[in-house]
Amino acid sequence: MLVVQKYGGTSVGSTERIRAVADRIASTASAGHAVVVVVSAMGHSTDALVDLAAELADSPDLREMDQLLATGEQVSAALVAMRLLTMGIQAKSLTGWQAGIATEPVHGNARVSQIDTRVLQNLIANGTVPIVTGFQGIADGEVTTLGRGGSDTSAVALAAALGADVCEIYTDVDGVYTTDPRVVPNAKKLDDISYDEMLELANLGAQVLHPRAVENAKHFAVQLVVRSSFTEGDGTNVVAMTENRMEGRRVVTGIAFERHVARLAVVGVPLEEHALAAIFSSLAENGVNVDVIVQSVVDEVAVDVSFTVNESDLGRAVEVVSALQPSLRFRKIEREAPLAKVSIVGAGMISNPGVAAQMFVALRDAQVPIHMVSTSEIKVSCVIPADLVEKAVQALHKTFIEADMVTPLTNV
Ligand code: ADP
Ligand code: ASP
Ligand code: MG
Repeated sequence: MLVVQKYGGTSVGSTERIRAVADRIASTASAGHAVVVVVSAMGHSTDALVDLAAELADSPDLREMDQLLATGEQVSAALVAMRLLTMGIQAKSLTGWQAGIATEPVHGNARVSQIDTRVLQNLIANGTVPIVTGFQGIADGEVTTLGRGGSDTSAVALAAALGADVCEIYTDVDGVYTTDPRVVPNAKKLDDISYDEMLELANLGAQVLHPRAVENAKHFAVQLVVRSSFTEGDGTNVVAMTENRMEGRRVVTGIAFERHVARLAVVGVPLEEHALAAIFSSLAENGVNVDVIVQSVVDEVAVDVSFTVNESDLGRAVEVVSALQPSLRFRKIEREAPLAKVSIVGAGMISNPGVAAQMFVALRDAQVPIHMVSTSEIKVSCVIPADLVEKAVQALHKTFIEADMVTPLTNV
């Protein structure tokens, strides 16, 4: 078998942890499997690098930021390789570019465009374990990074390019849970989850997998498993479809949340101004990512448009929208932060119309006001006050998971 193993920050967070990781790699290799390892930076060292940069520059140059952040993974890769060598296991650390990982020429959030696997194939053929730095690649000779949490994506991309039998993501929890176990201690570990549900959870804030890792795993049919590097266990398999889902059981599979949400409302835009087109084109041109959008028509003469952005983009969003005042002639801009977004996700809700209603009832009963709502086939998201996020997640977990409901309430 060819196995790709990715170890996250906590898993390589100390020399003691690196010893344990090396032991695991060694036992996989000595069981006769070819192993390619992908590592994250040690512990919170990427955050520490971000903090250093912030001390010296308000908005650091993006190229230099990538040069800086890419160093974190070089430390852990070299240390893991070094440890394996002392154990008599042939190993060699490689940076993203040495491993042939090419990305689009964007700094800070680059997508992998191509992988030249020749170097890795040679190492594997020689019985050497490549230890590849996650989170980075190269574009036009420049170091690029894949976005925070991007080592998962490096691992899946390598697994796809190498045709690996399995891609194992080792982290500090023993699988994907029904929600973040740090917020709900009795969250349940899932034995399996579909790519689509995992993708929604990841996109909606569940940190355990980088969204693009799931997207790529689905696209290239990579067998993906999430496990703990601290314990033994089967972990969670991310799969195409599970039996559970077929008969609509497990209506809600998981609950995700995101903090640092901000809402902006553009109030009283004359109807004839086509506010949506103008506002969102301008935001897109200025690189502001918009999430939930609501437009309401007031008395058939004006519209109110409100939308959410990441809190860190709020200032820029206000600037962009304010610049449109002369042409849009809106009455005022309102802003609201900090907010949060809680979401329920489950393929089973496609055929269960009562689920959104049940979510609203649960939040009402928990006295959590809902500011905005957005839905898709397999999720419902509510924007709520930030300080109520834990309470909301716990209430939703009780309603949808702990009650082990299989059919939705129809009478609310
Ligand atoms: P790593 O450094 O290994 O990449 P991360 O911190 O990125 O680890 O992701 C693991 C963390 O994700 C867990 O410690 C947990 O708090 C959080 N998490 C959020 N939602 C979930 C979930 N549904 N299942 C498991 N973990 C989750
Ligand atoms: N070290 C990077 C980060 O902290 C990448 C990763 O851990 O996946 O975002
Ligand atoms: Mg991670």
